Amino acid sequence: MAEFSLIDRFRQRAGARPDVVLGIGDDAALLAPPKDRQLVLAVDTLVEGVHFPKGIPASAIGWKALAVNLSDLAAMGAEPVVALLALTLPTDAPAFVDEFAAGFAALADTHRVALVGGDTTRGPLAASVTVVGYVAPGQALTRSGAQPGDDLWITGTLGDAAGALALWRSGVPMLRTGSLRERLDRPAPRLGAGLALRGLATACIDVSDGFLADLGHVLAMSGVGADVEVDVLPTSAALAEAFPDPLVRRALQMAGGDDYELCFTAPERQREAVRAALDAVATPATRVGRITEGASLRLFDADGLPVPLPARRGYVHFGGEGA
Ligand code: ADP
Ligand code: MG
Repeated sequence: MAEFSLIDRFRQRAGARPDVVLGIGDDAALLAPPKDRQLVLAVDTLVEGVHFPKGIPASAIGWKALAVNLSDLAAMGAEPVVALLALTLPTDAPAFVDEFAAGFAALADTHRVALVGGDTTRGPLAASVTVVGYVAPGQALTRSGAQPGDDLWITGTLGDAAGALALWRSGVPMLRTGSLRERLDRPAPRLGAGLALRGLATACIDVSDGFLADLGHVLAMSGVGADVEVDVLPTSAALAEAFPDPLVRRALQMAGGDDYELCFTAPERQREAVRAALDAVATPATRVGRITEGASLRLFDADGLPVPLPARRGYVHFGGEGA
């Protein structure tokens, strides 16, 4: 199939927005941002065998390639606007491209994201997505604002995607991993929560590499430490059922990654306001600890006894040991 016929499959599902002056088809796209908005830019790549196992449905790859990027916009408190897609395919299989495009478009349409361009090349399967969002000046959430005394929060539940992957690696067919697999294949970026937290959260990050690794980034950039209560890490019923051993489950939740939940900090006096803001967008959230002075990350159990930090805190692309 010709490259253009492939591109057409994306163009048909690209979506339109009034601020997109020119979309797919020219040498570049044109965007007319509102005068009172800053642009928020992010790019993330999914590579077969690294970010997803061989053989998962093309629609899930398309969904997830966009989802991981929208999750970055959510963590910035940004409203998503447009995306660009650089797709590398081993063959020009039209069924694969159709399914991929359908998965991508399903998520894009949910959040009114227009696909305005991209690139299509031949090679080992990989999808690189660039997203653009808007935020009012001064409103973006960053990693660097956490203050000693702040509450530490997590949206949703942790460990589900890592649980699905662990089950699958241990030989359980992917089809039998149920709602855990849904979290791995079709993560739902927390865009509503990110927007709701503007003006409330002092720092925010999305959990992609593993809760402890990503929390570590917030602590380093904010110049603070944290005390985390590991027994209150939010747990889905499906994860608890699949991993009854609390130590095994805890390891998945602390360092598993692929959660795409928001980990954020907010002043204690904003506790009720945080609850109300997240309730309004139907996002569950759990307080899991406190920001402290200094730079140390300390874990405690429900009895207040120290829990050792695991050697592995998350996924690392370069370098062997934990993050
Ligand atoms: P150029 O050679 O000028 O970069 P291409 O032939 O690569 O143009 O692409 C033609 C048009 O199709 C461009 O507007 C480009 O942004 C768009 N495009 C190419 N691949 C994709 C894709 N996978 N998804 C969305 N748009 C694409
Ligand atoms: Mg090109």
